[in-house]
Amino acid sequence: MVAMALKITVISNLNTNGVLSLPPNRLHSHLLCSNPKFCGRRFIGSAPLSLSRSKKSWHGSLQVSNLSQSSASNSFDVVIVGAGIIGLTIARHLLLASDLSVALVDAAVPCSGATGAGQGYIWKAHKSPGTEKWELMMRSHQLWENLAKSIQLQGMDPLEELGWKKTGSLLVSKTAAESAMLKERVEELSQEGLRAEFLSTNDLLSEEPELVLEQEGGAAFFPDDYQLDVHRTVAFIAEGNRRFAVEGRYAEFYHEAAIGLVRPGNSCEVGAIQTSKNTLHSKKAVVIAAGCWTGSLIHDLIKQPDIELDLPIKPRKGHLLVIENFKSFKLNHGIMETGYANHQSATLNATASNSGPVYNAQDLSVSMTATIDVSGNLVLGSSRQLVGFSTEVDESVINHIWQRVGEFIPALRQESLEDLRQSREVRVGLRPYIPDGKPVIGLVPGFSNVFLAAGHEGEGLSLALGTAEMIADMVLGNPCKVDATPFALLGRCFH
Ligand SMILES: Cc1cc2nc3c(=O)[nH]c(=O)nc-3n(C[C@H](O)[C@H](O)[C@H](O)COP(=O)(O)OP(=O)(O)OC[C@H]3O[C@@H](n4cnc5c(N)ncnc54)[C@H](O)[C@@H]3O)c2cc1C
Repeated sequence: MVAMALKITVISNLNTNGVLSLPPNRLHSHLLCSNPKFCGRRFIGSAPLSLSRSKKSWHGSLQVSNLSQSSASNSFDVVIVGAGIIGLTIARHLLLASDLSVALVDAAVPCSGATGAGQGYIWKAHKSPGTEKWELMMRSHQLWENLAKSIQLQGMDPLEELGWKKTGSLLVSKTAAESAMLKERVEELSQEGLRAEFLSTNDLLSEEPELVLEQEGGAAFFPDDYQLDVHRTVAFIAEGNRRFAVEGRYAEFYHEAAIGLVRPGNSCEVGAIQTSKNTLHSKKAVVIAAGCWTGSLIHDLIKQPDIELDLPIKPRKGHLLVIENFKSFKLNHGIMETGYANHQSATLNATASNSGPVYNAQDLSVSMTATIDVSGNLVLGSSRQLVGFSTEVDESVINHIWQRVGEFIPALRQESLEDLRQSREVRVGLRPYIPDGKPVIGLVPGFSNVFLAAGHEGEGLSLALGTAEMIADMVLGNPCKVDATPFALLGRCFH
């Protein structure tokens, strides 16, 4: 058996012009492939150093065609479409929990979607016990913690590998009404067994000195919340998946848009994914995890007279401002303003509410988030807009974020955004937004082997490992660890 070196592209980054570029330290990694069955194939592509962010050419709708012939050379147990955090972690879970072979397909590369823009908060602070997502979030966070521990047990540092830090989180209030609400939240989460306390403005002076609030303000402090660095985490997971290529169980098809689902005859089973370059046969399951593109991708497949599909996943644009190598001051925790939760859950047709301000998801909303990442960058956010699939940087949104953060951290006002232009990076991502606020995770009704995992909006990193486990259990026919009913498609997207 002849060993053969394969060059594989690892990861991409967004620069201020919305152009993908590869971080120099992670340009290529090399993998020794001892399995000729896989080495002979174009199963791992190498990316150009930069790629236009325009997705028009490769995020089209899937066309359904009939399976004419089967080629064993591109045959896998599971074919996953989308290599964002959701697709990558589903691949990981299947590879670790079974002996199935997995193909991962992406129109570009990992981190080219919403994932690349993620701030990395793995937080419970702004989640509510008793809601339908609570259990999934708790399970997912447990799995993240287990992953960090297992990295440590292998003699590596989770901080280095994932950018994993127990920063704790501060949910900040400016008004007396918000403070009262945060006190209730502290009470509620404490009853769930989480460590939580309310900090007055005086307490905050020692805990987070740069955070300056009026007397009636304060913060709910959750010391056990985490953050990760999304680029390091994705690189780690992608690299782990690639180890299975040596066994002939894993293959990547990057820069290959999925353009069709192939069905033998008119059966309820999908036999293959047609990409722009290959037909990838699936023996057991197809998983569509294409973020905000999932709706249009799946639409054509479901054109059946007896099933009416409405998968209303929309791209919800978000800007994040990163000031590189920030030295002017330190932040000790992850910070977020209380209003963030309202912005996140805003519905398309908001109505008046007695419980506080209501935001319409159609409008631009900016809520303050601030943290220092593992590389010493100041990461400031974030915005939400439903303005289509454009990922153009909008300077007015950046100014908005800058001003909003300055209202909480006045030291920033001494810096000029213009002067920081050379050391700043803007990340833009399209969150996969669903109006009812829950991801879709489950089988597509009418099909026996097509699963969806999409619609995680602003919590895809937080929910990724729980989602991956859920999909893997469904594919393998295992009982799910968490009730999957709230995430089913039937009744929500199918009528
Ligand atoms: C500014 C910002 C901050 C955020 N902060 C956080 C945070 O702190 N914590 C948190 O939990 N979440 C956060 N999120 C949300 C999180 O990033 C998303 O929920 C998550 O990344 C969604 O992952 P995904 O894999 O579903 O989608 P994506 O990352 O968008 O991946 C979808 C993939 O599908 C591919 N694709 C699309 N069409 C096709 C096709 N036809 N064929 C093949 N491939 C295709 C795309 O190229 C892409 O790589 C943030 C998001 C933004 C924008």
